[in-house]
Amino acid sequence: MTRKAVSIQYMKKKTTRLLTLLLCGLLLTGCSAKETEPEAPGETGQPSAVHTQAPAASAAPVRGTQKTTGGGAYFDTQVSLTLYGADETAIADALAACGRYENLLSKTVEGSDVWRINHAGGETITVDPETWEILRRAKEISAATGGAFSITIAPISAMWDFTGGTKRMPTDEERLAALPLVDDSAMMLGEGCTVTLPAGMQIDLGGIAKGYIADQLAAMLAPRCMGAIISLGGNTYVVGDKPDGSLNTIGVQDPFAYTGSLEGVLMCKNISAVTSGTYERRFQGPDGKWYHHILDPETGLPAETDLVSATLLMTSSMSADALATAFIVVGSERAMALAQEMGIDAIFITRDGQTLATPGFVEKYNYMTYEAFLTR
Ligand code: ADP
Ligand code: MG
Repeated sequence: MTRKAVSIQYMKKKTTRLLTLLLCGLLLTGCSAKETEPEAPGETGQPSAVHTQAPAASAAPVRGTQKTTGGGAYFDTQVSLTLYGADETAIADALAACGRYENLLSKTVEGSDVWRINHAGGETITVDPETWEILRRAKEISAATGGAFSITIAPISAMWDFTGGTKRMPTDEERLAALPLVDDSAMMLGEGCTVTLPAGMQIDLGGIAKGYIADQLAAMLAPRCMGAIISLGGNTYVVGDKPDGSLNTIGVQDPFAYTGSLEGVLMCKNISAVTSGTYERRFQGPDGKWYHHILDPETGLPAETDLVSATLLMTSSMSADALATAFIVVGSERAMALAQEMGIDAIFITRDGQTLATPGFVEKYNYMTYEAFLTR
């Protein structure tokens, strides 16, 4: 535990999860390391990646502060959109984008970019510039976290079933045989959006794709509404302020209680909040032990970590997504050190119920326990 960490007394409280966030800037990217200014790990400036969907020129004018909602199930996640003053087709267009991203990035959709990479048998293939940009950033974050984040975890993540009810897990032999296939540095990215993955290796974008999509939805919706709350599971992005001009409130999930119960509350704007946790996608094995879905690339087993959740606040939801996963793997001490090195605002909850925040976090985001929030 870092000396500078702020320890906040742990309290349990129940209620509905509040969500929020704000705006996202744009940078166009291409399939060339030269064209793309890599985002420094932890940079809290503009999102690094971005494909712009032009604000519909023909869209109907903004309708005051009228609220519209929509959502659907994509990439094993419930997408929820709340828009204020949006044009008529904003929700439908955002959901269409989710469908398009699912077809591009899902490893199970035949013909998707990820599926083609995983079935290329060592050959070089060309992918969509958006896929390439995610791979570029994934590789960068993998290097910055000493491999704690590794999209090449796929051969091993496929051996586990954390959500389907079968409680499948690999034998030690299967797991150890697949471990040498986990190495993001072996994935080569070339000019013209090419990808070369050594035969036998596979990728899984489950730890980063939702963040990328949240960034894209925020960028796409920002010019088309006066405010929006975009939620993709643990990734939230809020575009614009609340209709009354007040700051948005974000709830930090209480990892020891039911979904929807809050541990604490923070206020912010122009930011994405991403939480990774060991408490959601997991099963209890025959040995009584809990097995969760964030794997340690060094062992192929659920990460042995003192953290149950990591919540990061960054303007790039993609970076926050990948880093939150990595921070769970490395545990509180290393996570706190990395967050401070990278200039990232983060709040961690440990297995023994402590809440640790990066320096300045509490003041910057007016963070308080949910109980304090209710009684203020
Ligand atoms: P969630 O998808 O539940 O929001 P995360 O963002 O933490 O959670 O991503 C976890 C997912 O990422 C796993 O379901 C798996 O697909 C993949 N994954 C698991 N461990 C790692 C890891 N160490 N590095 C990269 N991806 C991982
Ligand atoms: Mg993640």
